[in-house]
Amino acid sequence: MAVDSSLSPLGPPACDKDAKALQFIEETTRNADAVQERVLSEILARNAQTEYLKRFELGGATDRKTFKSKLPVITYEDLQPEIQRIANGDRSPILSAHPISEFLTSSGTSAGERKLMPTIQEELDRRQLLYSLLMPVMNLCVPGLDKGKGLYFLFVKSETKTPGGLLARPVLTSYYKSEHFKTRPYDPYNVYTSPNEAILCPDSFQSMYAQMLCGLLEREKVLRLGAVFASGLLRAIRFLQLNWQQLAEDIRTGTLSSKITDPDLKSCIGGILEPDPELADFMSKQCGKENWDGILTRIWPNTKYLDVIVTGAMAQYIPTLDYYSGGLPMACTMYASSECYFGLNLNPMCKPSEVSYTIMPNMAYFEFLPYETNSVSGGGESGTRLVDLVEVEVGREYELVITTYAGLHRYRVGDILRVTGFHNSAPQFHFVRRKNVLLSIDSDKTDEAELQLAVDNASKLLKKFSASVVEYTSHADTTTIPGHYVIYWELLVKDSTNSESESFDSVMDQCCLTMEESLNSVYRQGRVADNSIGPLEIRVVKNGTFEELMDYAISRGASINQYKVPRCVNFTPIMELLDSRVISKHISPSLPHWTPERKMR
Ligand code: AMP
Repeated sequence: MAVDSSLSPLGPPACDKDAKALQFIEETTRNADAVQERVLSEILARNAQTEYLKRFELGGATDRKTFKSKLPVITYEDLQPEIQRIANGDRSPILSAHPISEFLTSSGTSAGERKLMPTIQEELDRRQLLYSLLMPVMNLCVPGLDKGKGLYFLFVKSETKTPGGLLARPVLTSYYKSEHFKTRPYDPYNVYTSPNEAILCPDSFQSMYAQMLCGLLEREKVLRLGAVFASGLLRAIRFLQLNWQQLAEDIRTGTLSSKITDPDLKSCIGGILEPDPELADFMSKQCGKENWDGILTRIWPNTKYLDVIVTGAMAQYIPTLDYYSGGLPMACTMYASSECYFGLNLNPMCKPSEVSYTIMPNMAYFEFLPYETNSVSGGGESGTRLVDLVEVEVGREYELVITTYAGLHRYRVGDILRVTGFHNSAPQFHFVRRKNVLLSIDSDKTDEAELQLAVDNASKLLKKFSASVVEYTSHADTTTIPGHYVIYWELLVKDSTNSESESFDSVMDQCCLTMEESLNSVYRQGRVADNSIGPLEIRVVKNGTFEELMDYAISRGASINQYKVPRCVNFTPIMELLDSRVISKHISPSLPHWTPERKMR
């Protein structure tokens, strides 16, 4: 089909391929409601004979009205029995008529373990389609990206098999290992410095080392720097801080460090690496400086922007990234999850605080549960009916509910989104937050109940000292790389000589570790395998500190009757108050337990 490349309202496309992608965005968003109707009817028609849909007696209907009147809105826990059966090897059409090809392990957890999201083979095409729209949009904002490369730190993580033999792994691991990624056609606008061998190396140290080395070798060609999340890019900077001498040595001599043992990596990098003393000197000069302010633009001087998600929980990293990049723009290009890829940012060079994601109506069937932000409880469902994609109202908040081709029907994702506007008839959303998340450093998400349980477990160790935890709160400290959880404890100690002993100190260290052992598997994987979270810290505060905290809140207008101790604090004056009352600090002495194997219940 001939494409008139001058027609895109988003701007003049960079090439014919881009023109097609932009036209697709236009058509799909212009016909958002019709596309949604088609998507729902396709999903219901093909899955009509599944056990799940038969249970609700749709009688073959594929229309919205019947669907909404008969199917309940559900959470992961409601689907546990079905998911368990599929994991155990039941191949009958339980949720989806198409065979479940694998499970995607979400960073969201249920009972301490990653949620298992069923997926089907063709979902890869849908994800690929969304990826294929990103560069055409970016090319509208940043010209000349075909003149260089992208340095992206991308990783595969460990995978396991369910008892029934299905693979269980993160969605990006599944994507990078797919033929869609490995044999992607050459696209001058989307060339990475990292070879596939480096991205696919299962050893995270070797993978990072190789990706960094390749990025350094081509430092002048690098036009964009990225990782999936901001925390990942900071981890790469930390890696450079720790390993630049060895990297410089490899570049100087043209021989690869003996730490790289992976045969595929060795042969691939060995073919690229040549002695370059000039580059080694340059690196040593830059990295040897005390001050790493703007280091990214010093080493990669042609970088036009950082490609990292800094919305949602990742917003906490914006100041640190600003520091290391000398204020480069940060582009948040897409919004996605293990359950489904949702949409993209049509104005990727906007400020992080202004990012809105346009949900693409072809990806799944989307519904929205109105969410009240001003209720006394601080937020909750308003009890009104779910609304369709094109019906959402600008300024209102909603919880996202999806029906996917892979067999999730009216499934609550747990994300709260605020409508900021529309592109054609497709709404655009600001990501407000994920429900029930108290602490997050990387992809870990710790809720209030998990934190409470961890404190309960750890405080048992204090019994023999006749001490107990009377109050606590927490904070995700991102001033360290990697960041770490800080838990403030106020103790009741019956006999103060107890708390001054050396053994009390070591028990407090153990309390840190016990808390870590009690946290969910995503947290522990971040600690053990990914090194994306630092050791947990407990700071003991003086008696009376939490009362002062209450006084402070009341002085700022909180009601005495309704005052509750905040279980997570971020507000600077409160942090200062807490830190000024600290009497001792304790750090987890070792790594918690984590193995890639899942506990299947
Ligand atoms: P997972 O299931 O581990 O793939 O995590 C998906 C979740 O990550 C989403 O439901 C969101 O809560 C969060 N997320 C994904 N993309 C973004 C984004 N662009 N901005 C903020 N949060 C995001």
